[in-house]
Amino acid sequence: MTGDEGRIITDAMFTKILLTITVVAVVWCGFKFLGRLAELKHRAAAKPDVPPQRQAVEAEVLVECRVCGTWQSAHAAKSCGRTDCPY
Ligand SMILES: [Zn+2]
Repeated sequence: MTGDEGRIITDAMFTKILLTITVVAVVWCGFKFLGRLAELKHRAAAKPDVPPQRQAVEAEVLVECRVCGTWQSAHAAKSCGRTDCPY
């Protein structure tokens, strides 16, 4: 009888240890998940600091020829052929 009793106690202990490990693992994963969520929230909150100025800088500057009235980019303006064209 003592052998059976010993086996029952070992099974109960094994189940207890397994349960403890499972609980610890679940809690650990939960904390990891919460930590990731907090990090994602922090990143999302910090992102709007990037200014949308780049597009404005890269936009082309157009100049109008006051003789022929055509619009050209300021850094690549060419003469339209008229003698009084400023470009
Ligand atoms: Zn012109």
